[in-house]
Amino acid sequence: MHEMGIAQNILDIALNAANQEGATKITRIDLIAGELRGLVPMQLSFCFSIVAKDTIASGAYLNIEEVPVTGHCNACNSDFPVEEYQYLCPKCASTKIQVTGGTELRLKDIEIE
Ligand SMILES: [Zn+2]
Repeated sequence: MHEMGIAQNILDIALNAANQEGATKITRIDLIAGELRGLVPMQLSFCFSIVAKDTIASGAYLNIEEVPVTGHCNACNSDFPVEEYQYLCPKCASTKIQVTGGTELRLKDIEIE
């Protein structure tokens, strides 16, 4: 499952950050996930609870903030949100679209004790 590897990555980063702060417990993790990552938040939370078991992040709440897909038109230079994977410029109908957002996956913040 692709979520399992991602959950492990998130855990590693969170544990590392908590370690540097000398934390004894991670209570919450805020995550930024681009829509194009195709993550299923419930599945990711489930996988996270498995990999975090027996670590200081056990029981931590995983908050996933989804970032929409955005595009840039190379023909008319406009920026716009891409809806339902329609890679077409809403202004000039060009298909020369560059995806500028929606692929990110990073840790925004953690809450520790
Ligand atoms: Zn355009």
